[in-house]
Amino acid sequence: MTKVNNWLKNTQAWLWPQSCHLCGDGPLGLDKALCSACLRDLPWNTHCCSVCALPLVHDAICGQCLRKPPPYHRALASFSYRDPVSHIVHGLKFGRRLYYGRFLGEALAETVAQAEHLVMPNLLIPMPLHRKRMNERGYNQAYEIARPVARLLGCSIAKGVVVRTGETKEQSQLNALQRRHNLKNAFTVTGPIKGLHIVIIDDVMTTGATVGELARALIYKGARRIDVWLAARAALGR
Ligand SMILES: [Zn+2]
Ligand SMILES: [Zn+2]
Repeated sequence: MTKVNNWLKNTQAWLWPQSCHLCGDGPLGLDKALCSACLRDLPWNTHCCSVCALPLVHDAICGQCLRKPPPYHRALASFSYRDPVSHIVHGLKFGRRLYYGRFLGEALAETVAQAEHLVMPNLLIPMPLHRKRMNERGYNQAYEIARPVARLLGCSIAKGVVVRTGETKEQSQLNALQRRHNLKNAFTVTGPIKGLHIVIIDDVMTTGATVGELARALIYKGARRIDVWLAARAALGR
C-alpha cells in the first residue's frame, strides 16, 4: 500500500507540482504551477504591436508590420519571451514538463478572453511538429498549450489537417535567411479548410517565419482568416 501511495504521490507531483515552480513557496492547489506573487511578476505582454504582438514600450503597430504586413490577421501573446517564461517554455519543450503546457494554455485562454474585438475561430491548429521530432519528443508542446485553450474557450482542435513535411532543422539554431530556406514546403495541408477562420497556436514566435509559412499554406488552401495565439512573443533578433 505504501508503495502505491508513494507512486501516487510521485505521479501527482510530476503532473501537478505542489509548490511554486519558481520560488518554491507552497503548498499550492493541486492544479497550480506558480504562486500568485510569481504569477503577477511574470513578463506579461501588456504593451505590444497590435498586429504581430511584438513587445513594445507602448501599444502601436511595429515598423515591420507597417512595412510588410504578415499573412495572418492578428497575433495575441500572453507573455514576452523573457525569463522566467523562457525557462517555463524550455521546460515544456525539452524537459517533459507537461503541466507547463496547461499553465501556458490557461494563461493564453485568459489573454484571448480579454482581447478587444475578439472573433472566435472555427478551428485551432497547434503548430505541427515534424514526425521525426514528434517521435523523439513524444508530444507536441503546441498541442499541450492548445488543449486548455480549447477547453476554456469552447473551440475545436484540428486533427490531421496539416502535416509538417519539409523542414527538419530546429529553427532556433538558424539565422533569418536560413530559417526561410529551411521552411520551404514545410507544411502540407490535407484537411478541408475552405472558408474557415483558423487560429494557429504556438509556444513562441520569434521572427514569425514558421507561423507565416503555415498561415500562407492555409490561406492558399482556402482559409478565410488566420489569427495567431502564442504563449510568448520574442523580441526580434533573438
Ligand atoms: Zn512563487
Ligand atoms: Zn508588428
